[in-house]
Amino acid sequence: MKGIKLLALSLFSTAFLSFTPVKKKYIVVDAGHGGNDLGANVNGIAEKDIVLNIAKQIHEINESQEKYEVFLTRTSDEYKTLTERTDKINELSPVMVISLHMNRTPENDTQRQGHELFIQQSEDSKKIADKITQKLGSCSVAERDLHMLRESKSPAVLIELGYLNNKKDREYLSSEKGQKEIAQKFVDLFNEY
Ligand SMILES: [Zn+2]
Repeated sequence: MKGIKLLALSLFSTAFLSFTPVKKKYIVVDAGHGGNDLGANVNGIAEKDIVLNIAKQIHEINESQEKYEVFLTRTSDEYKTLTERTDKINELSPVMVISLHMNRTPENDTQRQGHELFIQQSEDSKKIADKITQKLGSCSVAERDLHMLRESKSPAVLIELGYLNNKKDREYLSSEKGQKEIAQKFVDLFNEY
């Protein structure tokens, strides 16, 4: 009886140990704005909603991947300060930070479209921007002194995914298909990083 108990116990602990996940490395995806801070807003379509949907899709698609754990700075329509976001980032010390935003031209120039990337003064940040450019197609890349980039100790890129006041960008980025495609491209990029 004792022997069986011991056997059962050792089988249980072996099974338990083999299912204990290895601690994953983090990638932080930051959906900009939230709550009362809508970000850009055109025809009732708000930047905060589009970027949250894409961030959640990235998290969901990445769930089946082994390489990285995706952490979202917000998972609902809530406002988080930039300092709260970068404090969390620096606590997790992820391999990269992707901050998602949408553009809007101030002069209401509805012709402009496409991606715009902002990076830190770091080689890793530049490398990630190059990878994003390969995945998403042509992007303009510039260094900029933004809180998310300056205060994040991990390599970080802020991406404006498209122009909300450009019809084509707006329709694509607010569609389920467009959001899924963009999210998949980011997960592919993570797996290759
Ligand atoms: Zn924004």
